[in-house]
Amino acid sequence: MKHDPSRAIFEMKQFGEFGDVNPSITDSATYTFLQAKTMADTFHGEAEGCFLYSRHWNPSNKYLADVLAAMEGTEEGWVTASGMAAITSAILQCCSAGDHIVSSVSSYGGTFAFMQNYLPKFNILTTFVDITDLDAVRKAITPETKLIYTESMTNPMLQISDIPALASIANEHNVRLMVDNTFTPMIIQPAALGAHIVVYSMTKFINGKNDCVAGAICGSHEFINSLIDVNNGTAMLLGPALDPLRSSSILKNMHTLHIRMQQHSKNAMYLAIKMKEAGLRISYPGLPDHKGHEVMKSQMHPDFGFGGMLSIDMITSEKASRFMELMEMHDVGYLAVSLGYFKTLFSNSGKSTSSEVPEEVQLDMGLSAGLVRFSVGLDHDIARTWKSIEHCLQLMEN
Ligand code: PLP
Repeated sequence: MKHDPSRAIFEMKQFGEFGDVNPSITDSATYTFLQAKTMADTFHGEAEGCFLYSRHWNPSNKYLADVLAAMEGTEEGWVTASGMAAITSAILQCCSAGDHIVSSVSSYGGTFAFMQNYLPKFNILTTFVDITDLDAVRKAITPETKLIYTESMTNPMLQISDIPALASIANEHNVRLMVDNTFTPMIIQPAALGAHIVVYSMTKFINGKNDCVAGAICGSHEFINSLIDVNNGTAMLLGPALDPLRSSSILKNMHTLHIRMQQHSKNAMYLAIKMKEAGLRISYPGLPDHKGHEVMKSQMHPDFGFGGMLSIDMITSEKASRFMELMEMHDVGYLAVSLGYFKTLFSNSGKSTSSEVPEEVQLDMGLSAGLVRFSVGLDHDIARTWKSIEHCLQLMEN
């Protein structure tokens, strides 16, 4: 493995102004200069180490962005007030009116809705494809295409994107490949595999505490600088800056991400094997019968497992609802959207985080009405958790 994400974070040396082991928090919106010329230079991006205004850059946000860039192995990062802010800013920076996107049909419902319902207002159109069908990706590309968009592990179908193959299609057609790596930080490094831009909802595994929403964009110097350009940078002009108090708390949580990902993966693998043995219709990329298992093995960092996300198909939404209510009652976790939390979270994707996707598209992509998506938590005693799930399954039969 060429790039070691946890080592890259471990080796970061970031101190506060008094040698504080956690960098100081800069809670200022604006910054003063001793010379007017330095301010003018900063406006034009020509003054190294100077800060102008916190919508543009803030030192606390920069500390976090630097750690993210180190983890991803990209030249730069920029942090945003939500995952959607990262996704929408990065897409709008790549595309102008008349441009076209090829996107995975299985992607977070908000991303799908942005492409399907919102971008057409600007005459930016999207063709949705099964992202594992590389011929379909190639065929969908038109002379107007500027972007191929996917998620490393797709939400909610848990398909695995073949990032090197998609990057080579993108390069052949001179378009960018943007990858949302929200489900698999540490496990997959999209940029090292050829993606041009990596986006995150940090709300999930990266922060891991469910105490805020936040996002990130990682890419080249050139791309990040274009995003914050004072004249036409999408991030600078739309203004989705992250609050520096938040970025400083997320920064601290990043230093435990490697341990958390290992435990999420270990617990998810345990449950996946038990669920499979119990005859449930389970999807987990760590199981050899998962369609994306081999692709995942070829691009994952072996130290961090196959991730914390799995799903089971309860066939109907009614059965899914009853099962989730029972699991909440019997301390398996919480019936809640979102993921990457220390507690197990579960939701019925078709009725929640993918409800923006029209029913016929859900059917077409194979999304069952009874799909229960799990984000497996950090439980110390996962065998006990499985016993509770088994008990809930027995109650379902009565
Ligand atoms: N990307 C993925 C894969 C998600 O699951 C989500 C939210 O659920 C988002 C992006 C959006 O992130 P946020 O809620 O932080 O805006």
